[in-house]
Amino acid sequence: MKLSQIAEQIEELGLNCHWCETPIVADSVKSYDHPNGVDIDDFDTKQWVYFTCTEKTCGYDWSLVKLQMQAEREGKRKEA
Ligand SMILES: [Zn+2]
Repeated sequence: MKLSQIAEQIEELGLNCHWCETPIVADSVKSYDHPNGVDIDDFDTKQWVYFTCTEKTCGYDWSLVKLQMQAEREGKRKEA
């Protein structure tokens, strides 16, 4: 899977930043090399994927793992 596809899936879940309620958007996705990350197309090593809250005064970094857990708690998990 591509990073952009993961990002779109997260955006489609309609999650908000837990601290400021700003919607998490696909454009804010970033990643870096991390052994506990996920396999992503076009990367040689596993990537730790995260989304930065777009509210300037917040700017909290939400990891993919945290957002997936939040989606599950809120019953927003989508069947693949
Ligand atoms: Zn925020």
